Amino acid sequence: MTYHSTNPFSGEPVESFNDMTGAELETAIAAAATCFETWRHKTYAERAMIIGKAAKLLHEQADAFAHTMTQEMGKRIGEARGEVEFSSRILAYYAKNAERFLAPVKLNPTVGEAHMESSPIGVIFGVEPWNFPYYQLARIAGPHLMAGNTLVVKHAGIVPQCAIAFEKLLLDAGAPVGLYTNLFISHEQSERIVDDPRIKGVCLTGSVAAGQSIASRAGRNLKVSSMELGGSDAFIVLDDADLDLTIPWAVWGRMYNTGQTCCAAKRFIVVEGMADKFLTRFQAALEALKAGDPMDEKTTLGPLSSEAALLQLVKQVDDAVAKGAKLIMGGKRIERPGSYMQPSILTDIKPDNPAFRDEFFGPVALFFRVKDEEAAIALANDSDFGLGGSVWTRDVARGKRVASRVETGMMFINNIDWSDAELPFGGIKNSGYGRELGDMGIQEFVNKKLVRTATMVAPA
Ligand code: NAP
Repeated sequence: MTYHSTNPFSGEPVESFNDMTGAELETAIAAAATCFETWRHKTYAERAMIIGKAAKLLHEQADAFAHTMTQEMGKRIGEARGEVEFSSRILAYYAKNAERFLAPVKLNPTVGEAHMESSPIGVIFGVEPWNFPYYQLARIAGPHLMAGNTLVVKHAGIVPQCAIAFEKLLLDAGAPVGLYTNLFISHEQSERIVDDPRIKGVCLTGSVAAGQSIASRAGRNLKVSSMELGGSDAFIVLDDADLDLTIPWAVWGRMYNTGQTCCAAKRFIVVEGMADKFLTRFQAALEALKAGDPMDEKTTLGPLSSEAALLQLVKQVDDAVAKGAKLIMGGKRIERPGSYMQPSILTDIKPDNPAFRDEFFGPVALFFRVKDEEAAIALANDSDFGLGGSVWTRDVARGKRVASRVETGMMFINNIDWSDAELPFGGIKNSGYGRELGDMGIQEFVNKKLVRTATMVAPA
């Protein structure tokens, strides 16, 4: 059994679910393929009726959806509600804009006329992580269903109730059977699905290891894929930063979702003149966080998503220290029931320390002191990841110049308000390829077909 719902606040198991049998999986894929044959011919308005209704239901039932998420992976309830509302906005955004995004585009060849048209390609297989249990699903369901594709989705093993709730949401909104199907399957079954000729594309959000495994399988099958993987985003503080603005964002950037965000601020790169002031205030702000029940609105520090996540993170900190890093705060589990980790800061991390390159998926900040702006950019770029990053300065033009030189898919100046339905999300290097959200997100799994009309005599 791969799918277990356990409350990380208490450690209490809630419910377990069996993996699908081979026969059940076959039925699910066949239903998705059959559904595609009718769904592909629906008008955008017909598709929008269902996706728009799902957006509305999600908004109306936000408290119940948020409650399930908090119980299952420990997200603080206010953040959970925010995620549900944002997921609703993503579905509504694609219901409204899909037709415009996928409208034919006129081209201007030297002879005749031509256009590009977009058509759906079939059943898409999604593999999604637990850290944003609904937002990740909305990010693929909104665009790909509105484009006319159907979806079969393997969600993470620790959020089965969220997986079921999202599938039910679409059915309640009037989705035909096979439009969106949740799959409780193993990694081996996932790999075999990628081989299935009825599957036409694969989108995965998760770790680099999962991306390598599924992307290589897709490549072997010559199937289009998009990969949203890990990150180790730089938070670059320049000598003219406004620390009153910067410090609260530094705390939010590292601690939102208890630090379990792909594009969280993970490497704090601060120029010499600001380093001591920044570190003192950052540490004080982290020390003020209080562990508590994530269902309580007043709690400022929630648990990690699982005991396994906590143990792995503590081990990563211990390894970093054993290889020469200095731990200036935290580094241990909090002695109370549940999977809680102390907010932590590591300094003196040399390039030969694994911590220099690894992703810390939780409340652990890596602090680097650098000589100047050039050194900050060089260090930011000395990473295997390339997801996002931020620059903090009173001079916005300078911030934009620095942002242009950092090698990532997304950069933020004086904020790290990462996501908006309109803004393409994704990275380069080991952070993956392809984009979700915005106009780009709906173009990933459509056939872009050239049609040229020109009545002319063939060349001799
Ligand atoms: P993970 O272990 O890679 O799991 C993600 C999903 O992939 C889960 O559904 C998991 O299933 C599945 N999976 C893992 N290995 C697989 C395999 N070999 N074959 C098939 N499926 C496989 O990642 P995670 O630790 O849960 O999530 C955190 C990671 O996701 C971090 O690295 C984070 O940065 C990244 N992330 C990236 C983005 C982005 O947009 N770039 C967004 C959110 C998270 P099981 O749960 O059953 O193992």
